[in-house]
Amino acid sequence: MQTQILGLLTPLMALLFAATFAVFWKLGKMKRHVLGFALGYVAFAIGFLVTHFLPGDAFYTFHTTQLFYTIGVTFFLGSVCERVGQRLHFPTIATIYGISALVMALALNSTDNASTALVLVNIGYGAMYIVGLTTLMNAQRRHISDYAIIFLIAFSATDFFIRPSLTVMFETTIPAGEYQQSIYYSLIGLVLGVKSIVGAMILIGATIFELISALREDSKLDPLTSLHNRASFEQSMLTMLPRAQSERRPVSLVVADIDHFKQVNDIWGHQAGDQAISGFGELIGKMIRGCDTGGRIGGEEFCIAVWNCENLPAERLAERIRQSFAQMEHTGLNDDIRLTASFGVATAREGETYEGLFARADEALYQAKTGGRNRVENAEIQRKADVETAATPEVVEMKRAASDR
Ligand code: GH3
Ligand code: MG
Ligand code: MG
Repeated sequence: MQTQILGLLTPLMALLFAATFAVFWKLGKMKRHVLGFALGYVAFAIGFLVTHFLPGDAFYTFHTTQLFYTIGVTFFLGSVCERVGQRLHFPTIATIYGISALVMALALNSTDNASTALVLVNIGYGAMYIVGLTTLMNAQRRHISDYAIIFLIAFSATDFFIRPSLTVMFETTIPAGEYQQSIYYSLIGLVLGVKSIVGAMILIGATIFELISALREDSKLDPLTSLHNRASFEQSMLTMLPRAQSERRPVSLVVADIDHFKQVNDIWGHQAGDQAISGFGELIGKMIRGCDTGGRIGGEEFCIAVWNCENLPAERLAERIRQSFAQMEHTGLNDDIRLTASFGVATAREGETYEGLFARADEALYQAKTGGRNRVENAEIQRKADVETAATPEVVEMKRAASDR
């Protein structure tokens, strides 16, 4: 009776873990690898139950158990790999499964002693874990949970290779019919139980960390455009500018504002206005590189920090965005209506703060607005032009002539 209850404890625990991951996946709107963990634990639970309830001497008991464990292992390894953007090579896992199922069938067929078959099957699982481990090693590791998962898999692989051989050294014969009464069976129950608890703790920890990171990331984004919100954009500038200074890289700032936007709201309604803002944001997101930062810093005002970019290429980027936006169709507006935006560009000077850089780009934007809108003004060229204007004797003469008149 006691053995029966103990035997049920592991599958019940596995089902509890499966439910935990399923809840994380559903309520936390998490990616499908979390669902993969849940399905993996369901398959493990079925595997445990099969071993526990089916007759030990029936050949299908071993095969059914192996099938469900393999499904569990595949879900588990596939999901931990997908979690870090890697793809487990499923054909290799299927081949290992096929070979070990065949070898197990032959071993069980030739003798009533299950020990050889058990060792071979475990070597098969060990080989699957090695495939998972090598795939994971290709991923970029960033967090302690990634290392914990690697440790878990390496430990499991070692256990699959060593434990069965050591056990059968002490218990040389395991009659298939008395498998459930063997030391091997008690030991594997214990080891798998402990491994599944430790594994679940590591995976739950990693999943909670992922959930918190995603929530934190979400709170930085503007829901209408998926660009950074103002606070997050300013925060990223506080790290980008000093980094650019120390690495001696240029950073340019583009500030953009949709033209006559009040009229859009007045004529077409606030909802259509929102659609246009969203369209402009998406366009900016598409046209900048991964190393640039785009933000919505006000109602219909946007900022782009262009990393490692001199002034003129940044101006050209602004020009390309201006042209694309001027051709865009907008839902909720008449088909023939096009919106435009004005842009200001400035490039960070030695030791300049974000406030200083923004003020200069914003001043250029103001020039673009007063200069007729739907244009790009460059703070640096403007400044140069002013300097040149002030410096040439002809202009000084012209100014004097004008003031004399
Ligand atoms: P200008 O060409 O000088 O930029 O003219 P403008 O009418 O666009 O003037 P301004 O940039 O000052 O006006 C911004 C308007 O944008 C004011 C407000 O009604 C509208 N607005 C601000 N935030 C939102 C928003 O989230 N959704 C919508 N639909 N409209 C917004
Ligand atoms: Mg505007
Ligand atoms: Mg505005």
